[in-house]
Amino acid sequence: MSDAPATTANVMEQIVSLCKRRGFVYQASEIYGGLRGFWDYGPLGVLLKNNIRDWWWRNMVECPPIGPDGKIVDMVGLDSSIIQHPKTWEASGHTATFADPMRKCVKCGHILRADHYWDILATQSKWFADLMTTTDNGTKTDADTLIRWVKNKARKSAPNLAAVSHPTVTPPLAPDVQALVHALADGNEPCILCGGPLGTPEQFNLMMISYAGLQQTAENLVYLRPETAQGIFLDYKNVLDTTRVKVPFGVAQVGKSFRNEVTPRNFIFRSREFEQMEMEFFCPPDDALMWYDFWRNERMKWWLTLGVKAENLKFREHAQDELSHYSKATVDIEYKYPFTAPDFGELEGIAHRGSFDLTQHQTHSGQKLDYFDQELQLKLKAEGVPDDQVKARSRYIPNVIEPASGLTRAVLVLLCESYRHEKGRQGTEEYLSIKPRFAPIKAGIFPLVNKEGMPEVAEKIYLDLRQSFTCEYDPKQSIGKRYARMDEVGTPYCITVDGDTLTGQTVTVRERDTMSQERVSIDKLKLFLTDKINS
Ligand code: ATP
Repeated sequence: MSDAPATTANVMEQIVSLCKRRGFVYQASEIYGGLRGFWDYGPLGVLLKNNIRDWWWRNMVECPPIGPDGKIVDMVGLDSSIIQHPKTWEASGHTATFADPMRKCVKCGHILRADHYWDILATQSKWFADLMTTTDNGTKTDADTLIRWVKNKARKSAPNLAAVSHPTVTPPLAPDVQALVHALADGNEPCILCGGPLGTPEQFNLMMISYAGLQQTAENLVYLRPETAQGIFLDYKNVLDTTRVKVPFGVAQVGKSFRNEVTPRNFIFRSREFEQMEMEFFCPPDDALMWYDFWRNERMKWWLTLGVKAENLKFREHAQDELSHYSKATVDIEYKYPFTAPDFGELEGIAHRGSFDLTQHQTHSGQKLDYFDQELQLKLKAEGVPDDQVKARSRYIPNVIEPASGLTRAVLVLLCESYRHEKGRQGTEEYLSIKPRFAPIKAGIFPLVNKEGMPEVAEKIYLDLRQSFTCEYDPKQSIGKRYARMDEVGTPYCITVDGDTLTGQTVTVRERDTMSQERVSIDKLKLFLTDKINS
């Protein structure tokens, strides 16, 4: 694969534009002006998303890795309801604590997330971008330059900035962007839109609400789930009672989640409706740390199988004071997104949730959720452990290790990772170097010319191959244009029927990244593609 990393400043704009142009991702409700934080996955986006989802399901549910004890891991799937009993969210702590701090502009009313203020300012504020240009990224901050900027540009783009009302500025002593912004805003953090002062941070609950029932009353109030995990906890006992799994075992699910994010941003990175891939692994308390280590390593290996480069991924351990209320230890797997580079942003969290969730649901529901571990009982007895201890230790509430990732964030990662812009490349300078397994379309099938018996042969090949792979038949325009169209959406192979096909029963197969071509006989095509796609 070509090696041009996605690090240029406007690379995100190019990716967003390609996604729109070629039908990967559209803004939701675009004809009505769009709805902030909501996105539609177009014909190619849904294929890419489903390919990632299916690979996760295959590797987590159908073929999970062999456990650290050398045993086959028990894993089952689930598809729980998006709306659950409201008590679920009281028990989980979401109604009380699932909140982000937000600040509101005193002048224009714009609301933003307080703990991400500097990131949001750097990526979304027009006046700040202009300030950075004028001051050479905060390095040229003499009083003359700043006052000229305030009197001319800021007056229009940031009319409520404190310095605009009294054009005197004391420049920061050293180049420091935050000090510069404070100097222009009387020591405050100014609004990213109008420059006005922001109010003090207030907690804002992120759960979206709806009503289940005829009347919109408090009794009928329900929440759209902010994570898929709780559905798994609610069905933990059902799964134990109706399948052959025993602790340790995992339950996995993929599905939509909703969060009323204060500041949805960075394309599909942070949206208000998104999809998650989560697995809850129930294990004996004594083994929880072993499983925590196991899953964090397995999950990192999994991201590498998507074709994400190791240097673009890293672990970030949560500090004690950062841990969620339920967690005993958490590590994030982070990716170097174009908008965070050279820093990294979250992609997946692996949390040791202890017995918090099941204990809470046991208390709030009144249903017993403990587990009698017969194997452990026999083992402890054989070790000569005293009877009272055997009894106490072999009945427990399982601990939970949770790898939780975003499916829609994974789509973004694959788009960023595979986006290439190569000056002077034949056909199209922009293409997606997606690993064949995840490419939305695996092969484009073309007759070289739309006559002389070629379309009939190409169509026959297409009808045969589409039984096994997602393919596209395209008889129109020059062959170069057809290659370019396929490269742009990441199609790894293009198959061309030409004059020689009719006599020799072979076709040309062109590979996307190298643009190299080879002749393959028609009867070997399916095997050829299967090998390449599964490798
Ligand atoms: P963040 O710190 O980015 O808000 P989080 O720690 O709250 O994320 P989790 O609750 O651990 O996220 O959710 C698991 C995963 O779900 C995240 O790692 C991310 O991939 C995905 N995710 C969470 N919130 C969003 C969102 N608003 N939009 C898209 N994906 C999300």
